[in-house]
Amino acid sequence: MRWPKVIIGTKFAVVLVIGVMCTLVLSVFWQGSTAVVSQFENRYVVMLDPGHGGYDPGAVTSQGVYEKSINLQIAQKVKEMLLPSGIEVFLTREEDTDYVPNGVKGKTTKKHIDLNHRIEMAKEEKADVFVSLHVNATATGQNSGAETFYHYKSESGKRLAELIQQEMIKITGMNRRIAKPGDFYIIKNTSMPAVIVEVGYLSSVKEQRKLQQSWYQEQLSRAIAKGIANYFELP
Ligand SMILES: [Zn+2]
Repeated sequence: MRWPKVIIGTKFAVVLVIGVMCTLVLSVFWQGSTAVVSQFENRYVVMLDPGHGGYDPGAVTSQGVYEKSINLQIAQKVKEMLLPSGIEVFLTREEDTDYVPNGVKGKTTKKHIDLNHRIEMAKEEKADVFVSLHVNATATGQNSGAETFYHYKSESGKRLAELIQQEMIKITGMNRRIAKPGDFYIIKNTSMPAVIVEVGYLSSVKEQRKLQQSWYQEQLSRAIAKGIANYFELP
């Protein structure tokens, strides 16, 4: 069948218009998706590690206060405080749990399996930094205040530890310690800059009470979050 010339012309125009519209729509989608991807790629990723958990309570006081609970409470607060800076935050645990399969025996073996899992989680999420949160304890009960450790071979770990500790010592009543080098398993085996923050001493009668209170945990968390934001040069 032969189409009159006018109809062929109209059909061509319609195809042309649809084609242009599709190109426009596709280009908008394409630009939109690249914008999302690049924004996501530029985001800093922080892995917070609430120390201990599950079978391992960490330090325990005679009144039954567990280090693992305080570590988790502080980690959750630090996460909340970092989110407005656009930092992506992960926790190695969101509840009272460990990563040791049933039947595994031996204190050191269990500890290493648990820590290796947390180290692996940070690697999988491509974390830029790893911050392990703990509360200290000594037999004498004389020490108090925060301490931050970095691996002695890591320059960036040292910078992160110093920035966190600088904020910690601004808290009223805090000690004046500086960040210290160490060779602990978790900061030695992480593939990104890593620090251990000991927020205080559960063995100190005075500090033990404060460490359980939300207003004090918030002060500690704010200092840790500020130190991390400073490391990324974020407001
Ligand atoms: Zn601990």
